[in-house]
Amino acid sequence: MSDGATPAVEGLFREAEDGARLCGSRCAHCGTPAFPKSALCHSADCDDSQMQDTEFGPNGTVWSYSVQHYPPPPPAIVPDPYEPYALGVVDLEDGLRVVGRLTSTDPAQIGAGSAVRLVVGEIGIDTEGKARSSWIFEPA
Ligand SMILES: [Zn+2]
Repeated sequence: MSDGATPAVEGLFREAEDGARLCGSRCAHCGTPAFPKSALCHSADCDDSQMQDTEFGPNGTVWSYSVQHYPPPPPAIVPDPYEPYALGVVDLEDGLRVVGRLTSTDPAQIGAGSAVRLVVGEIGIDTEGKARSSWIFEPA
């Protein structure tokens, strides 16, 4: 849960009973997903873009991941001491491939093919000291 943190960016995601959803769109003509929302289809083969608002998630599979063992440079605000975290490329079961932070850095839990669930969680503190949230993935 996001524990009351303010979304890092408004309108990209929402919390749901069973996790979270990403707010994007899908082409009604060819089925190509897009995130964030897009007014035009992203498929080069589509000749009749018909984008409709769609939500994606919460279930997915890790395609790849990387553990960030060193802190990002300023102006990023990082905890002291720094805690490594993982970023993953996740294939959601409804066809969207998306990058997101993972709650675990354990390869046994987040290796390629691992099942994960989309949730909303705190990702850091902004320059005003306020907690910020975003979509993240936890082991399913
Ligand atoms: Zn299309």
